[in-house]
Amino acid sequence: MDHALEKSLTAGWHKMATTLVQGGRAAVEEGGTLVNLPVERGSTVLFPSIEAMNRQDGRSHAHKAVYGAMGNPTQHELEQFIAVLEGGSHTQIVNSGLSACTTPLLAFLGQGDHLLLPDSVYGPTRRFAETMLRRLGVQTSYYPPMASRDVVEGFLQSNTRIVFAESPGSHTFEVQDVPMLADVAHQAGALCFLDNTWGFGIFQPFEHGVDVSIQALSKYPSGHADVIMGSITVNDAAHWKVLRDASIQLGQCASPDDCWLVLRGLRTIGVRMAHQSQNAYALAVWLKTRSEVERVLHPAFEDCPGHDFWKRDFQGANGLFGVQLKADISVQAAETMLDGLRHFGIGASWGGYESLVLPTTGHIRRSAEAGPTAPTFRVHVGLESLEDLKIDLSRGLDSLAYHAAE
Ligand SMILES: *Cc1c(COP(=O)(O)O)cnc(C)c1O
Repeated sequence: MDHALEKSLTAGWHKMATTLVQGGRAAVEEGGTLVNLPVERGSTVLFPSIEAMNRQDGRSHAHKAVYGAMGNPTQHELEQFIAVLEGGSHTQIVNSGLSACTTPLLAFLGQGDHLLLPDSVYGPTRRFAETMLRRLGVQTSYYPPMASRDVVEGFLQSNTRIVFAESPGSHTFEVQDVPMLADVAHQAGALCFLDNTWGFGIFQPFEHGVDVSIQALSKYPSGHADVIMGSITVNDAAHWKVLRDASIQLGQCASPDDCWLVLRGLRTIGVRMAHQSQNAYALAVWLKTRSEVERVLHPAFEDCPGHDFWKRDFQGANGLFGVQLKADISVQAAETMLDGLRHFGIGASWGGYESLVLPTTGHIRRSAEAGPTAPTFRVHVGLESLEDLKIDLSRGLDSLAYHAAE
């Protein structure tokens, strides 16, 4: 792989390497300090006096709160670490990535408000808008993820409170012009939210004008397919107050064991990602040479919608991309092929150390040139040998016995 390309896939991870090792750790004490923070469990916190308890109660984000539901010390260490990595001032850990989407929407929206979601948004976020938010009197519109400024502005209403972005989009991988969307939001007196799960470590949300950054920590930060967790990060004291109050009212917190696992996962995310992003890119380039493949949706490819925004704003890639097969291959044949793979598990998530495939037919429908029936699937590249993965996919594609129509 040529040096410039390798750099564009991994620069963010190399830049962050030292912080990933040194962040979120305790200062070394005279009497000796363990390298890793201990897990601190607990619900009830005891105080020597009522006065001492009341003093503690006034601190909104203290290391010791008056009750475990306000978060535990392990959670607060992780929160500070995520805030540093995302470039924000404060982070709230919540119990899932989906909660990281829904909690700030509940915190910042009220009856009569209008929400703008990209059409490529994570499915459960859309469902939340269509059900709970609608019931609470919030109206939602969907803008095309690649819409120009004029088109996005055309969706604004006097009551638009949030312009939401997700870049690249779930399943369809459109990279959005986040600085433009943030500017449109701010000109209209609204906020810009970003689901930055794909961009963890390689897209600095607050440098691009975002107000609220959302992470599914269940993905690469945990990295081992064993934790469900999310984070919400802001960069403004007033936003923090709204978010923190809502999180407490909703009872949002996370288990210290899970927080500890994510702290551990972050130690190795840099080397995992440098490896996974390079292997994913190599596999994507190879897939593109196959006659069965119509298109590969990877932000580092020139034909990916928003590739220029990726080049401008991102400092790397990760191990997730989409594949669209030729339209005359049946969905049934494509699924039989995926079922037969040996090294790729069939699974809905991504970000672990293991390779996965997931059928996504129908999701690509929103991108202009693909028909709704073209078979598509998503690939997540883990830490296995690239050769093994290639042989596996090669065998699978051969089994389609595909010959392009004359
Ligand atoms: C996975 C994911 C979520 C949800 O995270 P969970 O921890 O699985 O609830 C939200 N947004 C995006 C973009 C995701 O990929």
